[in-house]
Amino acid sequence: MSNTDFALAVEDLTVSFDGFKAIDKLTLYIDKNELRVIIGPNGAGKTTLLDLICGKTKASHGSIRFQNIELTKMAEHKRVRLGIGRKFQTPSIYENLSVFKNLEVSFPRGRSVTGALFFKCDDTVKARVQVVAEEIGLATLLETEAGLLSHGQKQWLEIGMLLMQEPELLMLDEPIAGMSARERELTAELLQRICKNRAVIVIEHDMDFVKQIAHKVTVMHQGKILAEGSMDKVQNDPKVIDVYLGH
Ligand code: ADP
Ligand code: MG
Repeated sequence: MSNTDFALAVEDLTVSFDGFKAIDKLTLYIDKNELRVIIGPNGAGKTTLLDLICGKTKASHGSIRFQNIELTKMAEHKRVRLGIGRKFQTPSIYENLSVFKNLEVSFPRGRSVTGALFFKCDDTVKARVQVVAEEIGLATLLETEAGLLSHGQKQWLEIGMLLMQEPELLMLDEPIAGMSARERELTAELLQRICKNRAVIVIEHDMDFVKQIAHKVTVMHQGKILAEGSMDKVQNDPKVIDVYLGH
């Protein structure tokens, strides 16, 4: 496979914060329709890697290509328009709006800085809201105020808001933190559904959850890749047991 066939190609990526390399010559390739899980101890650089891909943090060195387009110098909002969606750890939904409205305002067309909440709702948008609401399991709660949803439902709503933009790369940082066991199960099913049409990167600590969803696992440590491959392979890797799983 040539490097241009990947959804995402990260090569030799480095970022220094005052001389400290949070990401250190990291190379990583993600296939189209792949669900990749990134694990590793706290401070390994996992969140920083997502910050670099979405453009929140600028790389010091190296390359990030999305569908063979170089991203490293591109502004964050342009990366969103190219199809990169990022969910942060704390959800940013509009608590006082309905589930429907939250999804509607996330539809990319007709959005402006001031007009985000006020554009016309046409049939295309409604149809898209319906599809996404079903995908995230909130189709029966469209009229519910988002603030009244459970913690897990709020997380799914935020994933839905990202799906409204039909991202081709979706990145989720610890999406099941604070969820109930049942919500975790439903989230695993949700992720398996949504990776059919796109590449997905998930950072997660819960190994049972990782086992359920991961196509491949990347283990990070000190800004580098410690191991990569199937869950079985990385779980039995002595280096991984030593720095991460053994604790
Ligand atoms: P992880 O998500 O794997 O727990 P992070 O990516 O959050 O790790 O952090 C990796 C390292 O980079 C940590 O030592 C953290 O303190 C440092 N770091 C992250 N962002 C910054 C920043 N903006 N300035 C300075 N140091 C940072
Ligand atoms: Mg983190």
